[in-house]
Amino acid sequence: MTTMNIETIWPRVCKILRARLNPDTFSRWIAVIMPKKESSAAVLTLMVSNDFYQSWLEENYLGLIKDVVHEVCGQPLQIQFEVNPEAAPPDQTINNEAPGARKNAPAKKSVAAGRESEITLNPKYVFDSFVIGPSNNFAHASSFAVAQAPGKAHNPLFIYGGVGLGKTHLMQAIGHYILAQSKMHVYYLSCESLMNEYIDHLGRRRLKQFRDKYRTTDLLLIDDIHFLARTNQLQEEFFHTFNVLYDAHKQIVMTSDRPASEITGLEQRLVSRFEWGLVTELSHPDFETRLAILRFKQKAFNVVLPEDVLVFIASRIRSNIRNIEGALNTLTFYSSLNHESMTVPLAEKLLQNSLEKENIEPLTIDTIQRAVANMFDVRMGDMASKHRSQSVAFPRQLAMYLCRTLTKASLPEIGSAFGKTHATVIYSCRQIGKQINTDQQLKQVVEKLTGQFNKSAPLL
Ligand code: ADP
Ligand code: MG
Repeated sequence: MTTMNIETIWPRVCKILRARLNPDTFSRWIAVIMPKKESSAAVLTLMVSNDFYQSWLEENYLGLIKDVVHEVCGQPLQIQFEVNPEAAPPDQTINNEAPGARKNAPAKKSVAAGRESEITLNPKYVFDSFVIGPSNNFAHASSFAVAQAPGKAHNPLFIYGGVGLGKTHLMQAIGHYILAQSKMHVYYLSCESLMNEYIDHLGRRRLKQFRDKYRTTDLLLIDDIHFLARTNQLQEEFFHTFNVLYDAHKQIVMTSDRPASEITGLEQRLVSRFEWGLVTELSHPDFETRLAILRFKQKAFNVVLPEDVLVFIASRIRSNIRNIEGALNTLTFYSSLNHESMTVPLAEKLLQNSLEKENIEPLTIDTIQRAVANMFDVRMGDMASKHRSQSVAFPRQLAMYLCRTLTKASLPEIGSAFGKTHATVIYSCRQIGKQINTDQQLKQVVEKLTGQFNKSAPLL
């Protein structure tokens, strides 16, 4: 490739990438790249200003860049990254309006302590508006204990569970409580915002500022920590932040969509730290809790729906609390516009879309066990047997893994369906998870089974 080529090729590659990526992604990750003029005929060298960009691009965008370069050049080229601190003009990322951290810049809220807590907490997410039931009472009690004695009761607190089950609500309730009761300094932010902020500081060579900020707070609330696994450098940074805060008895609270041990790519030293304190799960609310939540919410919304309509929503919308709120919103909005009293048939009509989604039969542990037993030619009874021979143990581990990834069953539920403890389920999932990354054949088996389930019983 000649110098001339690179200078014409790269702008064309960028043009295509700009069209395929969202503007934030493009300006954060692609606009910072400078192609090296001295690239050889078969290798295109792309320069970036620090190794964080390099590893992030390699992990997330290398395939796409390769494809587009292939498209533009009409032949595949090898792509390599090189770190060159001069590569990106200073403040380049800052001038592009991309960075999510600033876009989602937290509102400043003063607290009496003199230093400010930079947080935006939803005023609705307080303990008083959290309805307690069997699915969440342990998580609620643990959160309340932490709020009453930060840094002392359970540190760290790790709350995990599926989407829309109240993780953010509980975490913010801790923040509200502590801000109201004390002069403590609090940070609440999503892991994604933390990452964006980290990158901004890195780009501006102000890591010390970033460190000072998060290592000196009294309470650090990080929402959706599972995103941490996306980048090794932030894991490293967070590891040290965690240690400093923990050693100083400062409270750390994290939420995640799964237990730390199941976050693929999360370093072991972080997994174990995340489990040092208290780990608590939010599971799916039962009918009574769903109804109690509806009753509570309608009071908060200042509306009154007939009891049979509330029962109808609670019995038909089971997947998560956010959807229950959505249904209530729809009906309330309709009533306010039409001044028509709500009835069950009318509610059924208005909620048709949400109900259709809810009606899809969720995949069950039993279906998975049956399909795996079939595929590996073992007896259904072997799924819960004590046989340890590899011919039985492997399909059993695989079935546990599929149950964990494809159903909403909790670890104890899966454990009991396989006659195992929940620690064995975690171990099995980890084994299979690791193996899938290296064993092409296993990967295909998993894809085949997943495809089969999707046809017969689409997932919610
Ligand atoms: P997650 O972070 O787990 O995805 P959220 O905390 O955002 O879920 O909760 C989704 C919605 O459901 C929020 O509006 C929240 O207030 C509400 N919610 C969740 N659990 C409860 C509960 N136990 N009582 C009242 N509202 C709840
Ligand atoms: Mg959340």
